[in-house]
Amino acid sequence: MASASPSVVLSYEAAAVAVRSHAEQVSAPDVERVALLDAAGRVLAEPIRADRDQPPFPRSTRDGFACRAAELAQGPLRIAGLLRAGEAWMGGALRAGEAVEIMTGAAAPEGADCVVMLEHVEVSEGQVRLTAGAPTAGENIVAAGAEACAGEVLVPAGRRIGATEMAAAASCGVSRPAVCARPRVAILATGDELVDLSETPGTHEIRNSNSYSLALQASGAGCIPEIFPVVRDDPEATAEAIAKASRHDLILLTGGVSMGKFDFVERALLAQGAEFFFTGARIQPGKPVVFGKLRTTYFFGLPGNPISTMVTFALFAAPLLRAMGGETERGPRFVLARLEGDVRVKAGLTRFLPALVVSDVRGASVQAISWHGSGDLAAAARANTFLVVPETAERLQTGDVVSVLML
Ligand code: AMP
Ligand code: MG
Repeated sequence: MASASPSVVLSYEAAAVAVRSHAEQVSAPDVERVALLDAAGRVLAEPIRADRDQPPFPRSTRDGFACRAAELAQGPLRIAGLLRAGEAWMGGALRAGEAVEIMTGAAAPEGADCVVMLEHVEVSEGQVRLTAGAPTAGENIVAAGAEACAGEVLVPAGRRIGATEMAAAASCGVSRPAVCARPRVAILATGDELVDLSETPGTHEIRNSNSYSLALQASGAGCIPEIFPVVRDDPEATAEAIAKASRHDLILLTGGVSMGKFDFVERALLAQGAEFFFTGARIQPGKPVVFGKLRTTYFFGLPGNPISTMVTFALFAAPLLRAMGGETERGPRFVLARLEGDVRVKAGLTRFLPALVVSDVRGASVQAISWHGSGDLAAAARANTFLVVPETAERLQTGDVVSVLML
């Protein structure tokens, strides 16, 4: 994408495409090996492959009797023995007229083609007979290698390690998986009105909340966040802080990207030779969002209003950071829900309105939360998602199936 000095204002979709095209070009992260439990939430740098066939033996999925289905349908079978999980059957191939009592997770003896459930038979005088419908061949036995063959990829590289991936790694004996290095993110809040948590704000001052929400969002996107001291609304202070932060993999700035007299972020970046991919997006909240690159370091200038900061991080910064951290699925993640209540807006911006999703086994419904704009943290705290209103829409109605942004 061509570099541009301000201003390049894009639709939401075009801005998302710009981020995505950069995400596709980022270089592969460094690789490190960590103990399996420490790999929780990390991104796999190498696939997890089956170290042997899965299952490694024909596995009984029920407690019952291993036998030939057709034989059991004809009449009672002689019980030749008992087979526990973890035990090998030493009795050789199943002979005609025989069944073996078997536990869930045990290897079915050679010659057995099904396991009939304990609940479907009765046992007397060393014999087992059917009390329910006849089993079919293959029932309750998973053939060796049916789930995966030795060498097959169970989990591809680029996947975040959750419970399933953790279990897959453990099942294949991967005790030190190769994971991607986490991008280091510098967080710079700008604003003369900002004070840190440790201070008591004067009546006209506010506490810096963005650095904290961003640190959480950045960790959630697989990064190591570093919170820098608050930057004053002053060209030199801004330039100095940016220069220091440019040793990180990515710089997140908040505030100072609007049109105000004391918004120095863009100017400071431009003076240091930054390239801008966009300097605004037709969205609410977050219209003044800036994306660019300072030499080799990507940066986002996020608008300072707390909800704008949060939403623009989720929409634009998270996907790039996930890519930098080697993750294949980068988001943002949208899901559909049924709208409750009508929503009216002016067309011209894609809106991400604070909303409450309620879901049960049948699906999800969503309701907009009334708010006082993008500084209204109290409203955002009553919400758990953001309802998407397309740029061309003026009205959404009860019953409409709408998109919501999952944070
Ligand atoms: P700005 O983007 O600098 O014009 O700021 C927009 C609004 O967001 C103003 O009301 C700021 O006080 C507020 N704001 C800016 N930075 C922060 C921050 N780090 N934490 C909380 N609010 C902020
Ligand atoms: Mg400001």
